[in-house]
Amino acid sequence: MANRNRGPFQNPTGVPVYLELTSVPQEGSITVIFLANSIGVNIHWPRRTPVPCPGHVHCKTDVHRSRTVWKGYAAVEIWRPKPHADWCPTVLEITERLDELLKGRDYRGEVWSLFRQSGRQGHAEVTGHLLQTRASDSCRDPFRVEGVVQRIYRTPHIDFGAESPLPPRVFLAPSQMDPPPTTGTEHQSNDRPPTEAEKQEFRRKIAEMNGQRRSPQPSHSGNGQGGK
Ligand SMILES: [Zn+2]
Repeated sequence: MANRNRGPFQNPTGVPVYLELTSVPQEGSITVIFLANSIGVNIHWPRRTPVPCPGHVHCKTDVHRSRTVWKGYAAVEIWRPKPHADWCPTVLEITERLDELLKGRDYRGEVWSLFRQSGRQGHAEVTGHLLQTRASDSCRDPFRVEGVVQRIYRTPHIDFGAESPLPPRVFLAPSQMDPPPTTGTEHQSNDRPPTEAEKQEFRRKIAEMNGQRRSPQPSHSGNGQGGK
């Protein structure tokens, strides 16, 4: 899908931008901070043109039964590197694959690196890494995304309450048990073992990603991550 964020993103630093829809680009990566969870829409493909579902009561039966893809839309800010070096508001398109990594918890304040990698049938599926979680009160207030989506599809009749069909991914930390018996043929890994502070941060992130209640941030973060 074309990267639709060329226009306002070219504005000089400090100049307001109008909200547009941003997709994760085919090449390279983007870094975003989520301001709110996404809202979902079922997109029908009765013919070649996508039709957003207005809800099953108002949707024509043949359209409602046609091929359907879920899309989510989230208020985010995208990092613009120098010369801007700022966070630019935009509406991020969330695919089913990305939603698997996000759903089931409040992800406001999470900073993600997002990119595509080849998945099933050679499709370049959206995926990413959680980089950091920032305190909610350090982030911009969320803005409404409905108008941007209505504009894309040129209709106000869209049901924004659709749930994505896939269950959330389950995140588990690798065990720190004794290594297996050696055979003498293993390759040495160059990875350094994580520090105790990093292990704590990993455990906290995993608990969060599994939708558990966030524990209070430690007041003296040793590595400068998290918190603000
Ligand atoms: Zn429908």
